Amino acid sequence: MKKICFATNNPNKLKEIKELLGNQFEIVSLKDIGCEEELPETQDTMEGNSLQKARYVFDHYNIDCFADDSGLEVEALNGAPGVYSARYAGLQRNNEDNMALLLQNLQHETNRSAQFRTVVTLTENGKPVQFEGIIKGLILREKKGNKGFGYDPLFVPEGHKRSFAEMSAEEKNKCSHRARAIEKLTKYLLKN
Ligand code: IMP
Repeated sequence: MKKICFATNNPNKLKEIKELLGNQFEIVSLKDIGCEEELPETQDTMEGNSLQKARYVFDHYNIDCFADDSGLEVEALNGAPGVYSARYAGLQRNNEDNMALLLQNLQHETNRSAQFRTVVTLTENGKPVQFEGIIKGLILREKKGNKGFGYDPLFVPEGHKRSFAEMSAEEKNKCSHRARAIEKLTKYLLKN
């Protein structure tokens, strides 16, 4: 069975991908391959960061790997916070601070359109292939719900009335940007 590393130590992300891929691949985490260090993420695009992480694992641990990078892109802010979503309000990487800054920057904006985007990079014998997942939606004027993480309380996905933070993990995973990118990756792996 082919062994692939998912460049994460998040148990939820691992569980989800293992379920999607069935038993055709052995998916291992960073910890499983003995990678304890923080992966470099110094690029200024999600494409760049996910490639940098996947390539780092391949180069240092000689194992094929996939890595994801996500962010929120707001139309009225020309795509910000985008690749800087985690540290939008500063290096403390605080969700509440980030949401407060986003609301402040959109205070006088009537265009509330936004999207969450994920880029997944897979290395195949070291050669990169990328997959993108997008979910469009709107930014609320105030927070709603207390589930999820990040900007979830401010984001209502297209075709829904409730925010991501009001949805169960299962419901969110049906339409999320990450799920959509991972679905493309899964289809690719199962076909090739
Ligand atoms: P990561 O690349 O998955 O670590 O995501 C980077 C940042 O984007 C997170 O720290 C969040 O601020 C934001 N983000 C990514 N995905 C989501 C999501 O599903 N809900 C809310 N915020 C998210």
